[in-house]
Amino acid sequence: MKKVDCEIIQDLLPLYIDNICSEKSKELINIHICSCDECLRDLNIMRESMFLIDPHTNSDNNSEIDILKKIKSSLLKKNIKLVAISCIFITIVFVLLGLYIFKHEDVILYKDVSIKIDEFGPEKNIIYTGPANNLVKSTEKTIKETDDTIYQSINLWLTKTPYTTFTKPTLKNYSVFTLNDYVDSVDVEHPDTKKVYKPVEIYYTDGISGERHLLWKDKTF
Ligand SMILES: [Zn+2]
Repeated sequence: MKKVDCEIIQDLLPLYIDNICSEKSKELINIHICSCDECLRDLNIMRESMFLIDPHTNSDNNSEIDILKKIKSSLLKKNIKLVAISCIFITIVFVLLGLYIFKHEDVILYKDVSIKIDEFGPEKNIIYTGPANNLVKSTEKTIKETDDTIYQSINLWLTKTPYTTFTKPTLKNYSVFTLNDYVDSVDVEHPDTKKVYKPVEIYYTDGISGERHLLWKDKTF
């Protein structure tokens, strides 16, 4: 009879340790282990082994969780790095593209424009019809210098950018420029030299060292 009791008690011991058996079973086990050294010993062994297994299992789980966390965090760091590098790369591409579209200048050639100089009083106006332009550029060369006047030969040309070409690809643009807006000190006294700069000839050139096309000449000079 005792043998059978012990078997039942041993079956119940894991539940007893986990505290999930009924109050009645608990009481039964308590009474039994008071009088049965064998079951008490088994209970203690079971308890010890469970305490030994539990922390061990936990630490295994913990180290697995730690490894997963480390992998996740390193993947996150890699992703952040990748996103940052992509952002920098895209920004550089956009800046270069913007610089090219807005700043890359091509000379508008004489053959593609209709340009003439009209004199309205002392002012010289450039009447231009041609591709949408970005800038008017010029170089000046002194031909003759007197006490109060510097006579100049002026080269000017217009430039276009991909932006002006894209926005107005086919439209011929009519503009009037006043020479004084683009060439320093034309017909007015220069603050440093105290001399008047007088253009005596104006050329349209295909760029800084391109072919020159005479637009206007001072016939009295
Ligand atoms: Zn027993």
